[in-house]
Amino acid sequence: MLPLRTDLEEIDPYVSPQLPARLRMNTNESPYRPPQRLTDALVREIEGMSLNRYPDRDATALVDALAARWTWPRDGIWVANGSNEVFMHLFLAFGGPGRTALTFEPSYSLHSLIPRLALTEVAHVPRDGSHRIDPGAAVAWIEQQRPEIVVVCSPNNPTGDCTPLHVIEELLRAAPGLVVVDEAYGEFAGSDTSAFPLLRDHPNLAIVRTFSKAWRLAGVRIGYMLAAAEIVSAMAVVRLPYHLSSPAQAVGVAALEAEDETMEAVAAITSERERIGGALAGLGLRPFPSQANFILFEVDDAPSVWKALYERGVLIRSYEGSAALGSCLRVTVGLPEENDAFLSAIEDVLP
Ligand code: PMP
Repeated sequence: MLPLRTDLEEIDPYVSPQLPARLRMNTNESPYRPPQRLTDALVREIEGMSLNRYPDRDATALVDALAARWTWPRDGIWVANGSNEVFMHLFLAFGGPGRTALTFEPSYSLHSLIPRLALTEVAHVPRDGSHRIDPGAAVAWIEQQRPEIVVVCSPNNPTGDCTPLHVIEELLRAAPGLVVVDEAYGEFAGSDTSAFPLLRDHPNLAIVRTFSKAWRLAGVRIGYMLAAAEIVSAMAVVRLPYHLSSPAQAVGVAALEAEDETMEAVAAITSERERIGGALAGLGLRPFPSQANFILFEVDDAPSVWKALYERGVLIRSYEGSAALGSCLRVTVGLPEENDAFLSAIEDVLP
């Protein structure tokens, strides 16, 4: 018998299947490779790097570049291997035995899995029928249960909606501890949806962002947090030394230098998102309005539709077995021709 932690016995590992498929539209990556200028800059950087040496532990150049990008103090910025690792650092530092994290479900499953790995209790408050956070119910729960960490995903994965800032403000006022807003898809929603303007007045707010989606760099693993310096300094205690590789740091800097070019793809993706939503509704399906780079839709017999699409080489996200989302599928916006192929495949497989 291996001495596995007993609390892990009932946890399944996170899987979003990386199945072979002609069209991979299931993990919300960008369909566009990063700009060539960025790749060229990176190759040049790596050639000049002393890879025999450990990386800069404080990722100084990347933190400086983010500080300039956001006009936010550098001691209020934390970078890590994807936003998932930022969350792991947050829960290691602020969670732990006897503490509770609150999420609004349905939402991104890692917001529940990561705290559990960090020995933190997780509580779920259901969203309303339109998948929105009900501020009255949320505030009542927070005031009664006093969770140390409240997580809001905005835009929410998988439902696609943003939580209005006045609701986030209500949560910030009610929460005895941190409110963490995951803005992994924020660039697709527009800057007026970001909780960033609330940071200055709310030292218990942390905003988490990633280079994996709009920045087209999921393969590099860079995420970051904007927060008060006190929150950031706690993260340094729990991270492993030299956690972010020199190449990852350099790509982040190069990406920020090429922001305009990188973000050109966002308009194409959001306009394709609207086209797909309209087409799905036209097929009699029920897409939820999305401000991200994916669309959740309801369909009769979702598992059979998912399977029939997969047999046609189209891999999208299934929620088989989920109480709240069992009748839903989620498609990531692809290149226009991929979206065409998805739409014609789904038209084909519908009864
Ligand atoms: N947050 C949300 C809401 C996500 O959907 C994802 C990726 N699926 C992540 C965070 C993780 O992104 P990464 O670790 O690649 O930054």
